[in-house]
Amino acid sequence: MADIQSCPNCGKRNRVPGVAGGVPVCAACGSRLPWIVEARDSDFGSILGNKVRMHLVDFWAPWCAPCKLIEAALDELAREFAGFLQVVRADVDKAPETARAFGIRSIPTLVFIRDGEEVARQVGAAPIERIRAVLSDDLVKWRSEG
Ligand SMILES: [Zn+2]
Repeated sequence: MADIQSCPNCGKRNRVPGVAGGVPVCAACGSRLPWIVEARDSDFGSILGNKVRMHLVDFWAPWCAPCKLIEAALDELAREFAGFLQVVRADVDKAPETARAFGIRSIPTLVFIRDGEEVARQVGAAPIERIRAVLSDDLVKWRSEG
């Protein structure tokens, strides 16, 4: 599924595919774009195949009030970590097999996946600072790796 994202640099609205050969960039100015996708069981695997350093999977549901707080935080982090991060929003009612595969028992649950492997998990509505800290630590490593 494609998502419309405004470019953080020039404001142009871009259509961003959920699965792509590389990190999405703005058609007008070339800046890296926030990358957020809604996943289903059918496309979760191909989304994880995207060549991006970190996937942050947000297990949520529309009826879950604390999930709204996480959603706002992740929108912000997707902008902040554009080019490094893909946010994967998995509605547990629409991606039930994926939720089962990850053993999700309560929502919101955030699962951090680097190169296809889970590296961290946060259960409950974590404050944005805590989510940002996990991403920042890994971003530093990523940059030092070259
Ligand atoms: Zn732009």
